[in-house]
Amino acid sequence: MLAARLSALPAFPLAQRMSRMKASAVREILKVAERPDVLSFAGGLPAPELFPVEAIAQAHADVLADDGRAALQYSTTEGYGPLREWIVSHLAERGLHAATDQVLITNGSQQGIELVAKMMLDPGDVVLVENPSYLAALQTFSGFEVNFAVVGSDNDGMRVDDLERAVAERKPKLIYLVPNFQNPKGTTLSLERRHALVRFAQRHRILILEDNPYGELRFRGEHLPSLASLDTEGVVINLGSFSKTLAPGLRLGFAVGPRELIRHLTVIKQATDLHTATLAQRAAARLLSRFDFNAHLEQLRGVYGERCETMLASLEKYMPAGTRWTRPEGGMFIWVELPRGMSADALFPLALDKRVAFVPGSPFFASEPRSEFMRLNYSNRPPELIDEGMRRLGAVISSSQQQ
Ligand code: PMP
Repeated sequence: MLAARLSALPAFPLAQRMSRMKASAVREILKVAERPDVLSFAGGLPAPELFPVEAIAQAHADVLADDGRAALQYSTTEGYGPLREWIVSHLAERGLHAATDQVLITNGSQQGIELVAKMMLDPGDVVLVENPSYLAALQTFSGFEVNFAVVGSDNDGMRVDDLERAVAERKPKLIYLVPNFQNPKGTTLSLERRHALVRFAQRHRILILEDNPYGELRFRGEHLPSLASLDTEGVVINLGSFSKTLAPGLRLGFAVGPRELIRHLTVIKQATDLHTATLAQRAAARLLSRFDFNAHLEQLRGVYGERCETMLASLEKYMPAGTRWTRPEGGMFIWVELPRGMSADALFPLALDKRVAFVPGSPFFASEPRSEFMRLNYSNRPPELIDEGMRRLGAVISSSQQQ
């Protein structure tokens, strides 16, 4: 009754920005793909069987037993000191040297994107992104009523050689990219391009937002230095996350950058949510102080590497000629290009009929959407189901190609 009455009330005039805030097409797809009979490779979910559930439970119990009142109290916006210190020493091992007051704990790296957008962007400003790009970042930027400048990407990541053109046409205020195992493509920015991009940003004084939730999930090849570690002039903010290394439900991420910008982000975060959950931060700090994080990462890399290899081998086995895909060295996604003339949007319902799902690539494009791509996730299914899923998908693509 109440619901019926509420829906009859007149709508309120919403903020201008809401005209740009569309519900994510991917969320709608994920709802359908969740059907229990469907083998879905659509989501971006880590493998839940690898969450260190017991260690996380123990860390929470210990924090509550030893220091329960502080763990349940309001705390500082910057974040819990020992967690920030752990992040500082962990990043130093990866070649990124920062002081504790250059680290802000965020509610996942998604919040880092939002805070940086709020700090930098006015309506009509230009954000430069790789095309295709992480969808939820595009959504965040759209909420600030910005325009996008795009540069393409290839197997070595963002086409840095195309930046001069893009910047000459429209001066961006921010460059956003995912250099490691990009979402959606799974590709990684080469070392040469990393140097060139940082030099470019320094020359033009444009801030780079380096979003790096997957960097620890490298299962092949050599670790590459972060953009932030190559920067000596304070033009990079680096975002990290515990979502893919511990568990996304903790909602723990961090932003690292020039002290002055981190101070601005802290003020914005205070106005947004006061601080990230005290209990989660303290439990994570406790966990990381005694848990073999490197061994845990090794296990994740082993499992994801095997799943990726399985998916690549199954694609080889089942996809018709003319289908192409990326070969990630880490992360969670493969990007597939369909044979000429085929559309992933048109294929999606046919695949669902055969009980297999993927995400069509079109929503990931910041400029004209292209329909011949799909994103496949391999982290969330065991090898046997990956093979079965690719068998179903290959059959759907082959049969719709013949029609
Ligand atoms: N950036 C990228 C590229 C992502 O793929 C994701 C998660 N899908 C996020 C940021 C957000 O992650 P979280 O907020 O859980 O750290």
